[in-house]
Amino acid sequence: MASADNNDPQEASGSSSNLMMDGLIEGMRRYFERLGFHRRDDEVTDKQKILEEVTLDGVVKYIQSKPCKNVITMAGAGISTSAGIPDFRSPGSGLYHNLQKYNLPDPQAIFDIDFFKENPQPFFTLAKELYPGSFKPTICHYFLRLLNDKGFLLRHYTQCKCIQMTCANILFANFSLGKNIDTLERVAGIPEEKLVEAHGTFYTSHCLICRKEYSLEWMKEQIFADNVPTCSCNGVVKPDIVFFGESLPARFTEKVQMDFNDCDLLIILGSSLVVQPFASIIDRAPSNCPRLLINREKAGQRDRVMQLMGMGTGMDFDSEDNTRDVAWLGDCDDGCRLLAKKLGWEDELLEMVKSEHAKIDAENPKNEDNSKKDIKKEDSSLKQEDLNLKDKDTKTEASNL
Ligand SMILES: [Zn+2]
Repeated sequence: MASADNNDPQEASGSSSNLMMDGLIEGMRRYFERLGFHRRDDEVTDKQKILEEVTLDGVVKYIQSKPCKNVITMAGAGISTSAGIPDFRSPGSGLYHNLQKYNLPDPQAIFDIDFFKENPQPFFTLAKELYPGSFKPTICHYFLRLLNDKGFLLRHYTQCKCIQMTCANILFANFSLGKNIDTLERVAGIPEEKLVEAHGTFYTSHCLICRKEYSLEWMKEQIFADNVPTCSCNGVVKPDIVFFGESLPARFTEKVQMDFNDCDLLIILGSSLVVQPFASIIDRAPSNCPRLLINREKAGQRDRVMQLMGMGTGMDFDSEDNTRDVAWLGDCDDGCRLLAKKLGWEDELLEMVKSEHAKIDAENPKNEDNSKKDIKKEDSSLKQEDLNLKDKDTKTEASNL
């Protein structure tokens, strides 16, 4: 089960810094290349166009016309906000109120390993508060499932150690879905082998001192009894989700190293691309691989000074040389739905959302009250005419000016 994924963060020590080092080496390689020392075979020349047009339409054409088989997707917290996962940082929310008594230096401290070692109580309070929640995968999650069903998805990387922190809440959202504590990606039906979850797992827990393993059942009992889960050695027992200050699971590093050379298209969803290693792995895609960002704002752009030195890494939406980086700005659900529409998959996508959500409701009678509200919301959000699906490619906007 979870152990096959090498989810124990302790085993992956140093792996994320290796990834960052790789990013630096890639930057150096490009610098030397610029000086004329080295050119890789797959390198594109300056004049060569990767996308016919650097817009969402260009990406759609690329998917349809090229042998585009291996799509890698990367998602941050932005893809789950429409699932209604509560933000415990919002003043006025019950969660915020309950956590205030702990005098947190900042809300993020709940997921900071050093803070946890000193004071684990706020984390377990939050875990209990969020336990009975009812969350459903979003349109965006089902779009990823569709990508997989149609044979395009090489791997989906999720980044939950993000600053928004709503992602960490997803870990708890899983509790609500009965039999297991799947992430929304798993609930949406994306197979386990296609997923790389950078946030670890809640399936297992370990004692911080003697490393003894504990089960989910045991952890759940402790949480609901308002106990700080404590090992027979007196150490605090912590679920194997990755906290700030901990290394990423080994599987993350392994798969990044394996997958990115084969990547034909990289889609980044709802991530501000500021937290490592997500911020740097976008540069591991081959230089002839188009990259599509679907996010509320542009993100991950390369540093100007580095760019002038030829060492630039990161997204390059606005330069004249850009023939591969596309930013579609807006909500992930809207962006994915528009992409599906342009690919001719929209009906299939909406049908999938409807039937899968109905299935989740049927399996969770406890959630009926919530789901009634959800259905109302969904009905309106799924209506064609209600959704103003505008092309918001930055290039399109620029050309319209
Ligand atoms: Zn112990």
